Amino acid sequence: MRTPRITQGRILTGDRPTGRLHLGHYVGSLANRLMVQGTHECIFIVADLHTLTTRHAPDEIAQMGDHIHQMVLDYLSVGIDPQQSLIYLQSGVPETAELNLIFEMLTPVTRLQRIPSLKDMAKAAHLDNMPFGLLGYPVLQAADVLLMRATHVPVGKDNEAHVEISREIARRFNHLYGDFFPVPEVVKAQVRSLIGTDGQAKMSKSLGNTIYLSDDADTVRQKVRAMFTDPNRTRADIPGRVEGNPVFIYHEIFNPDPEEVADFKRRYRQGTIGDVEVKRSLARAINTFLEPIRERRATYEAQPGLVEDILIEGTAQVRKQARETLEAVKDRMGLYRLPA
Ligand code: ATP
Ligand code: MG
Repeated sequence: MRTPRITQGRILTGDRPTGRLHLGHYVGSLANRLMVQGTHECIFIVADLHTLTTRHAPDEIAQMGDHIHQMVLDYLSVGIDPQQSLIYLQSGVPETAELNLIFEMLTPVTRLQRIPSLKDMAKAAHLDNMPFGLLGYPVLQAADVLLMRATHVPVGKDNEAHVEISREIARRFNHLYGDFFPVPEVVKAQVRSLIGTDGQAKMSKSLGNTIYLSDDADTVRQKVRAMFTDPNRTRADIPGRVEGNPVFIYHEIFNPDPEEVADFKRRYRQGTIGDVEVKRSLARAINTFLEPIRERRATYEAQPGLVEDILIEGTAQVRKQARETLEAVKDRMGLYRLPA
């Protein structure tokens, strides 16, 4: 079963199941997870309760089951190994909600109101009034992290301020009730955010500028063909701009042949190579990168119920630890307990 190994700490990170994962997710977070999978104990949360903070309409909830399934397939297909790491469903661990409630008592409202990313999220979701639950997003995240006594939390830029709340809550709890929680470290993403195929904003599923990990080869070719390049370059013999050009940004990341990339850049600047050739080569590179991911996905997809079994097993393991943490928390606090 699970491979025991000496670890350098326990990592907790994950995603809201709001859709399929794309290349932006890969470079921004999945690649880092694969790197730490061998050295740290990893727990990956499918944060379905967090999804409710901005999407609680019945039709949005109705899509969640499919999103959860696809996202776990995305995890497995990139190489997250359920023999090594735990993948679990947040709502399958009700102790999360209980710890969240306790943490709410330790968190000043004004502190949460100062976090800009929460206002951005409310705006993006067209919520005119900040819901209580969305304001509490980082507190719920602290419950996830501290319930599992995680020591490290890798996050993207938009989430760094949230982990600060986990740290503050851990310190506050320890100060009030005695040392108990590890104060989790933020692990900042090493890669900046990946620009979208439109060259205008970061790759985001709500902007329609994505290449999904689950896209087939033809879809990738079509999306690359339609990619934004240098808009001033109406003919192949006009010198083009390489800097900030998404086609070259992707070449740098996904083309394993740096000499070819350097040659393309040189000829592009000189106006001696066409966009079509540069893009054709890029589509090939991305497809070569995605091919093993697609193969793994197909293997997992061919086993009905496997994704659910992995989630059930992961959730059961997490819940065991969650129960222990919550009991210890109540003991430390000296909460009155009814006799069993
Ligand atoms: P939405 O359009 O709904 O905001 P999204 O595609 O931007 O969705 P998120 O769920 O917002 O995806 O992203 C979750 C996390 O994935 C981010 O915090 C970040 O770490 C990482 N991520 C998302 N998009 C990118 C990107 N383009 N480049 C790098 N990292 C990304
Ligand atoms: Mg986003």
